[in-house]
Amino acid sequence: MEDCTASAFSVFYFQHSSFLDAQRKLQNKTHRNNAQTLFGIEQIPSDPHIRKCLDPVDPSLLAPLIFGIGESLFQQGHLSPYDTRFGFLPTLDGTQTVSSDKISCPSCLKRKKAKDSEEVTYSHAAVTPVLVRPGESSVIPLPPEFIGRDDGTSKQDCEICAGTRWIESYLPRYREFGRITVMGDDLYSHEPFCRKVLELGCDFLFVCKESSHKTLSEYLKGCTTVVLKRHEKGVRKKKRLLHTYRFMNGTPLSGQEDALRVNWFSLEITDEDSGERIFYNSWATSHTITPEILEDLSACARSRWHIENGNNNPLKTKGYHLSHNFGHGEVFLSNTLTTLNILAFLLHRAQEFWDAGYCTARSLMPRIAFFDILRVLTSFAVFPSFDRLIEFLLEDDPDLRRLILDTS
Ligand SMILES: [Zn+2]
Repeated sequence: MEDCTASAFSVFYFQHSSFLDAQRKLQNKTHRNNAQTLFGIEQIPSDPHIRKCLDPVDPSLLAPLIFGIGESLFQQGHLSPYDTRFGFLPTLDGTQTVSSDKISCPSCLKRKKAKDSEEVTYSHAAVTPVLVRPGESSVIPLPPEFIGRDDGTSKQDCEICAGTRWIESYLPRYREFGRITVMGDDLYSHEPFCRKVLELGCDFLFVCKESSHKTLSEYLKGCTTVVLKRHEKGVRKKKRLLHTYRFMNGTPLSGQEDALRVNWFSLEITDEDSGERIFYNSWATSHTITPEILEDLSACARSRWHIENGNNNPLKTKGYHLSHNFGHGEVFLSNTLTTLNILAFLLHRAQEFWDAGYCTARSLMPRIAFFDILRVLTSFAVFPSFDRLIEFLLEDDPDLRRLILDTS
C-alpha cells in the first residue's frame, strides 16, 4: 500500500505521467531508480495495481498530511503574513475535478446534458479551501472536501453541504492557529451556514449580492448609508479611481422573523474622469463595520479571488492537470488521486519556505522549464536524494548550466 501511494504521489510531484515507466526502465538498465531513492518505493507497482490498491482508500485518510504540513508551516512562523487584522482567511470554493460522458462510478455526480435529454454527464467536484491574504497570489491549500452522492439515496450532494462538513471538521482545528474569518462567494451567505461559522467561534466575510438577498436589499433602500471616497492611481492606465463604500450594520440576512443580523457593505470603484464603473461587489460579515476598517475589510474580501488565480487555475492549467482522468475506479480512486495531486501542490508551496536550494533552483527558470528539467534528469540518471538532485541543478558548471537551460 505504501509503495502504491508513494508511486501515485511521485507522478503528481514530478508532474510527469510517465515517471514510473521511466523508473522501471532505469531499474532494468542500472538496477537502481529514483522512485526508490527519492520516494522510498521498494518495488514499483504496475499502474493497474496502483489503481486497484488505491480505489478503496478514503481520501479523508490523506487529509491529516495536508493539515499537518499547514500546521508545521504555522508553528514555524511561515504563516504569520496570512494572519490579517481579521485573523486567518480560509476561503471556500467548489470546483469540478474530472468529468466524462462515458466513464463513471457510483459516487459520480450526474447532470442531464439537456433538460429533456436522457444523456448524462458524470463528474466529480470538491470544495478546495485555501488560506489567502491581500496582496499575495500564492495561497496555502487546505484539505479538500468532496461533493458526492448522498449515501444510499438518489439525492445529490451540494457545495454548501460539503462546505458545512468542511467547517465542522476543520474550523475547530484551524481555530487553534488564532482568529478565523471564513470567506466564500454569495452561495455561502446562507443563514444556516453563517450561523454554523459563528457557533464554531469564527467570523465570516461572504459575498452577499443584493439580487439574491431580497429582504436585505429592502432594508438597504430604507436606511442611510455612509459614503467614503478614496483616490488612488490605477496600476495600468494611471487613472484616478474613486472608491465608494456603503455599509450598514445589523441587517437581517433573510425574511424570517428571527433572521440572522449581518453587517453589510459594498465597494464601487469608478473612474473619476469618465464616471465608468470598474468594479462593484458587496459582502456580508460578522465583523462590526466602522469607516476605519472598511479599506482593510474590503482588501481581505477581494483577496478571495486568489483561490481562482492561486489554486484552481494552477491545479488545472499549470502542470497538475486536476481535470485529467488519471484513473476513475469504483469507489474512491478519482477523489484519492485528486487529494494526492493537491498534496503535491501544497508540498511544492511548502518547499518555498523550507528548502533554500529548491527556491534558488525555481527562481532560475519558469515553472514549466523547472519541471521539464527534473523530468529529463530523473529519466536518465539516478539521484541518491532530493538534495543531490537540486544541488545538481545549482552546480556551478557553465557547460552543464547551458545544457540544462537549453532544455527549457
Ligand atoms: Zn465517478
